[in-house]
Amino acid sequence: MSTLRFHAVKASLERKPLKIKDNQRRSEIFGENVFNEVSMRQYLTKTALNSVLEAIEKGTKINRTVADHISAGMKEWAITKGATHYTHWFQPLTGATAEKHDAFFETIGDGLAIEKLGGDQLVQQEPDASSFPNGGIRNTFEARGYTAWDPTSPAFIYDKTLCIPTVFVSYTGEALDYKTPLLRALQAVDNAAVAVCKYFDKNVKKVNASLGWEQEYFLIDSALATSRPDILLTGRTVFGHSPAKGQQLDDHYFGTIPGRAMSYMRDLEHQCMLLGIPVKTRHNEVAPNQFELAPIFEEANLAVDHNSLLMDVMKKIAERHNFTVLMHEKPFAGVNGSGKHNNWSLTTNTGVNLLSPGKTPMSNLQFLTFFINTIKAVQTHEELLRAAIASASNDYRLGANEAPPAIISVFIGAQLTNVLNELETVTKGKLSPQEKTDLKLNVVGKIPEILLDNTDRNRTSSFAFTGNKFEFRAVGSTANCAKPMTVLNTIVAKQLIDFKAEVDELIDKKEMKKDDAIFNVLREYIKTSKAILFEGNGYSGDWEKEAEKRGLSNNKTTPEALKIKKAKSTIDLFESLGVMNSVESLARYEIEMEDYILHVQIESRVIGDIARNHVVPTAVRYQNILIENVKGLKTIYGDEFKNYAKAQLGLIESISTHIEAINSSVTEMTEARKICNKDASLEKKADGYCNKVKPFFDTIRYHCDKLELMIDDGIWPLTKYRELLFTK
Ligand code: ADP
Ligand code: MG
Repeated sequence: MSTLRFHAVKASLERKPLKIKDNQRRSEIFGENVFNEVSMRQYLTKTALNSVLEAIEKGTKINRTVADHISAGMKEWAITKGATHYTHWFQPLTGATAEKHDAFFETIGDGLAIEKLGGDQLVQQEPDASSFPNGGIRNTFEARGYTAWDPTSPAFIYDKTLCIPTVFVSYTGEALDYKTPLLRALQAVDNAAVAVCKYFDKNVKKVNASLGWEQEYFLIDSALATSRPDILLTGRTVFGHSPAKGQQLDDHYFGTIPGRAMSYMRDLEHQCMLLGIPVKTRHNEVAPNQFELAPIFEEANLAVDHNSLLMDVMKKIAERHNFTVLMHEKPFAGVNGSGKHNNWSLTTNTGVNLLSPGKTPMSNLQFLTFFINTIKAVQTHEELLRAAIASASNDYRLGANEAPPAIISVFIGAQLTNVLNELETVTKGKLSPQEKTDLKLNVVGKIPEILLDNTDRNRTSSFAFTGNKFEFRAVGSTANCAKPMTVLNTIVAKQLIDFKAEVDELIDKKEMKKDDAIFNVLREYIKTSKAILFEGNGYSGDWEKEAEKRGLSNNKTTPEALKIKKAKSTIDLFESLGVMNSVESLARYEIEMEDYILHVQIESRVIGDIARNHVVPTAVRYQNILIENVKGLKTIYGDEFKNYAKAQLGLIESISTHIEAINSSVTEMTEARKICNKDASLEKKADGYCNKVKPFFDTIRYHCDKLELMIDDGIWPLTKYRELLFTK
């Protein structure tokens, strides 16, 4: 083992789990650092409180005088909790979170000072955020960006700082973040779903989209992680031969959580409780040192904020435990990657989960309406949904045989497949009373109330129905959930609007009864959505061929996947629902393409550096040792030496072959990069990085990994997979 590796492994082995004091009941500390309704009741006047509650429920504006009251109350609460600073907390288009802290502290002359947070500072700020990506929005409009308070996501205290969730928009109103379009999409689906709900229940006033994410991650000892330049700079290993033992024994999955990891999780969960993130589930994942954490689902905007916050908190807490959290979708070749399943549903203000079958035929017809409309929405917009989860890092995971493929398909299970098959045979036009009764009793009425335990869990599907929700599994572990959630809620909103228009037309023009009209439209949807339904093995090669026949897209790389984002149909879709105007849509397309290029560029540089500066010199060193050895053998055995030096000579030759291959590939890759960098067009550049630069990654890796197997372990510079994955 090389000295560097030795010290890293030694340091990690010597670490003991931190003692975590968490003997308080979780329900008692839940939300302690959140300015939630309980604290608002304590610190706000009645008018102020009602004004916030109304803003949350109905999206009404809060006037400045009231804002002054709210900010004063919020500040008082924060100070009693030990906060000294406040910040507008937002999510720029980097996908990460951003904050700029200001102290409450203000001088008032005569050497005196007070703590202050005015209404103005609460409601709006103008961070000098000119370095955030904006996709040309601010250049075009020569306007600055400002952050504006989002009262639907409560303020919280973290690290003695009051964090106020905000949207980030340009002076002319264009969204510069992921939250703004999400909020608009949630509004769109709310409106569309309420309108459809009225067919079934006039009391429905609001429909909330819910999101329950499941965060997968790796925990690697920080000494080991920092000994790898690739992990440090790219979040993944670009080299490393598979260890003799990987995950083939399945002995990590749901196994006992190792002591240090457990102490980290308890610490993390404690923080989450204080911050009101309702984490519930923790377990070992498939790969060694891989874990998962999942909360109880929440309203989608809050859930998105909570996931972004969680990813930050995870990294911060990890420092205390000398861990590095790897959020990357594929940190290690040959072992399981990480995803972030997005469980999604729609719930009414009357407490009904619209994707949960009910007790009566009528409630089941409502369930089927939302169920089938969702399928239809995914069928129509599968390519856009694929684009919503595209990123340089997720490209390594999708289709990697333990993650959903790049093809979007919907799995619904055998029972619901039967229901849809029967519904499809319903006569066109008005139904006879007999037929209607039959349908209601024998088809719709027979959907079991609890599907949860009956739906088989097809893990290979990218979009699966799991009893009372859909689970979007293709989302990557580093993703900001706002992206997939914006698209999903937008396409479902659009679909529900179209559905309502079709049903209303049948009622008005053909004088059909409501139920007849609904059955008629649903029947057509079942017919036209068939291509997206797939119950088989999503990992198989046959599915790729079948999907192609069905006309489903299979965009394997990010540049290919993103193309749909600038299509006229996409721009029109977002514009028509008020989610994004064309400037906002195109800005996101550009930023994501740019992001892809930069990520591949950085990886390519790191690969070149490590190959040339770490691997090749080590190979030469070892080759010299072998040469010395051969020379020695020659002195002893004279002309006969070859009989004793066969292995050494073979190794010397192989090493030369690999060094040569590495060197020429790095040179060619660098040349390819130079050509790409000269390309002015974003498309060509991304395409070049994807198809001209990236293919060298595997070639270079192949030769470096071969050398790892040959070279004396005592001088190999890179911490090995077995050390990274099996040191606990
Ligand atoms: P798994 O998929 O790991 O087998 P479950 O299906 O039981 O586990 O739950 C996964 C996640 O689904 C949980 O985080 C849970 O909060 C979320 N979930 C459950 N019901 C809903 C819902 N109606 N809307 C959104 N998410 C939900
Ligand atoms: Mg799941």
